[in-house]
Amino acid sequence: MIRQHHFKLAIPLSLFLLGACSSGVDGQLVRSIAEFDAAARELAPGDTIVMANGTWSDVELELRANGSADAPVQLKAQEPGKVIISGQSNLAISGEHIVVSGLVFKNGYTPTSEVISFRTAKNELAYNSRVTNTVIDSFTNPERFSGDTWVAIYGKNNRFDHNSLINKGNRGVTLAVKMNTKDSQENGHIIERNYFGPRQTLGSNGGETLRIGTSHYSREYSNTIVRENYFDRTSGELEIISSKSCGNEIRDNVFFESQGTLTMRHGHYTLVENNYFIGNRKPNTGGIRVINENQTVRNNYLYGLTGHRFRGALVIMNGVPDGPINRYDPVIDSVLDNNVVIDSDHIQLCAGSDAERSAPPTGTTMHNNTFMTRTNPNPFTIYDDISGISFQGNVLNEEANVPVDQGFEKLPYSVAENQHGLLVPEASLLAKAGIDELKLPVEKDDTGADFYPKRDLSVAFRSGETTTVAPGTNTLLAALELSKPGDTLVLENGGEYLLTKYAYARHPVSIVAEGGDKPIVRSEKSTFFFIENGGALELDNLWINGDESPDQAGNNVVSTSRYSMNQNYRLAVKNSKVSDLDVNHSFDFLKVFKSTFADSVEILNTEMINVTGTVLAMDEETEDLGIYNGENVRIENSSFTDILGPVANIYRGGTDESTFGPIVNISGNEFNNVGLGKRNKSGASLKFHGVQRLDISDSKWNDSAALELFLTNGEPITNIRDVVMTGTAPIRANNDGYEVDNVVFD
Ligand code: CA
Repeated sequence: MIRQHHFKLAIPLSLFLLGACSSGVDGQLVRSIAEFDAAARELAPGDTIVMANGTWSDVELELRANGSADAPVQLKAQEPGKVIISGQSNLAISGEHIVVSGLVFKNGYTPTSEVISFRTAKNELAYNSRVTNTVIDSFTNPERFSGDTWVAIYGKNNRFDHNSLINKGNRGVTLAVKMNTKDSQENGHIIERNYFGPRQTLGSNGGETLRIGTSHYSREYSNTIVRENYFDRTSGELEIISSKSCGNEIRDNVFFESQGTLTMRHGHYTLVENNYFIGNRKPNTGGIRVINENQTVRNNYLYGLTGHRFRGALVIMNGVPDGPINRYDPVIDSVLDNNVVIDSDHIQLCAGSDAERSAPPTGTTMHNNTFMTRTNPNPFTIYDDISGISFQGNVLNEEANVPVDQGFEKLPYSVAENQHGLLVPEASLLAKAGIDELKLPVEKDDTGADFYPKRDLSVAFRSGETTTVAPGTNTLLAALELSKPGDTLVLENGGEYLLTKYAYARHPVSIVAEGGDKPIVRSEKSTFFFIENGGALELDNLWINGDESPDQAGNNVVSTSRYSMNQNYRLAVKNSKVSDLDVNHSFDFLKVFKSTFADSVEILNTEMINVTGTVLAMDEETEDLGIYNGENVRIENSSFTDILGPVANIYRGGTDESTFGPIVNISGNEFNNVGLGKRNKSGASLKFHGVQRLDISDSKWNDSAALELFLTNGEPITNIRDVVMTGTAPIRANNDGYEVDNVVFD
């Protein structure tokens, strides 16, 4: 009663009238957090709070209410999509029968650990409630490794549908079903028709898009249904979905060009049915990873998946016998039947077999699956005893091999595009698996908030305007400041460009010259170019010269932001010359800071001479937490002469298995007098620690320090071929787990 009294005092009658008079408002219109709080204090079944259109900054919305099945309490936008919640903001609901709709969270991040929470306190949970037609877009903590969860579902019988969750850049699960108390177990939540928009590579564990439960409660039932969602390039880490509880149903979802897998990490009795994985041959695209007991994986369609090891198209893991709850349970009595796998590279059986994971699958079937693949003639890898898997009625094309004696029929490769644009095997094979027709179970346009665009977030180099930049002092700086995302700045052939201040790439931008005399770029500052958060830089046909750099140690040409970057960057250096980075010691080409991450770093057709530091210094994440500084590194057709430090120093420490990279390609290069400087602590010409995929080919070392490898974490793949090392110490490695072919020492 006291509350009601305050309520009446706080809201003058005129405001009620204002609200009531606004056209089209069906409920109580609120225009500020104070009005919201007042309205939220007294809510009866059927009441609606309408948030006024506009930007709501720094608001923590708490809604405790009890509606009824027939008359829910609603929180909605005056117009869907026109209520923008920004700054340090979040939303928490608890009670019964609440429906939230039409909100957009962007331009900010949550001050707590959740953006939308289905609880208002530890013991105040939401039941029979719904969040729909709502958006969280790039609502990302600027501290990359400051973790939060965008949506946390507690309680029981909640529904999360038709929402768009786009571009989470910091650590933490995008959407989590929490099971930490009895009141959140056997919850029967439904997660459907959501658009999970692009999620960049995190470069660490903690980039899952959807997690159901945690290892602590993994032997409890969640009974969550995940259906008809669209996962669009959700590539945060190995696990796109991490099912960590029993009794879940994951069906009719589409995984489009997503790196990672649907993983039944913990818990039993989960059904994975009729999901479509469209890899389109993109790197690290995976399918379904099976762990635990009584799992059912059937009628799934998997196309163009390239991922290997834990991100294969179909992966059956080995388990730990009588292991602790947070380790891998053995696969027992599980079913992988009637799946269709087209042009996918890796089927992994008994994956992860090692001294600890020594229990192979038992009581498990692989029946009536169709495998048609011309992309890898040996798609099956068997790591341990497969006698506990029954193979029957499977089909494999003639060109491919399977190291299993029976249960596979060899047929000609026969795949054609059907009327829905999918590459499918013959109808007779589908009929055998009980499939009438292959067709995406849900279209992208039928998922997510209906008012919100599903735009492409990444801006390609040279996709914008082209501007000519005259030679001179700071002309390039001015052009950079005026540039827009995707723009190209063209320098004059033979022109001289001086920077007397730091230059910043704050968005993707290209600095180029036409073929011909390279323009020369010098800087009087300790860094030529900073790539700031959101930035990316391409340098093409330039001559970068260190003659005007300050006489101090530790200069560099390109540096990441000094601060945490929650957006990955790219650096491409092509057809360029880099000389005389030697005014003082430790002059690097690329310097990275902690909590930054490159999607790609490329040095192509480039010549570097006289460098006193490291060319690519990507070794700042030294805590051995499985965090590293960049995913893809390519050095091709380039020469490096008189470099005192290593050409590349790439570090990825720790034993975590959630990530893919670093992935490094070194091809067609010459290394002359590289790595022999006294200050080169690595003592190497190139040093790779924990690189997960390393290919070195067609390269020459002359009078240089050794190539150094530290092979660790999982099963890194390292291939070195067609290499000549003259006057150079032998390859140093911590073990012999690398392949060598035609490596010659003179
Ligand atoms: Ca994970």
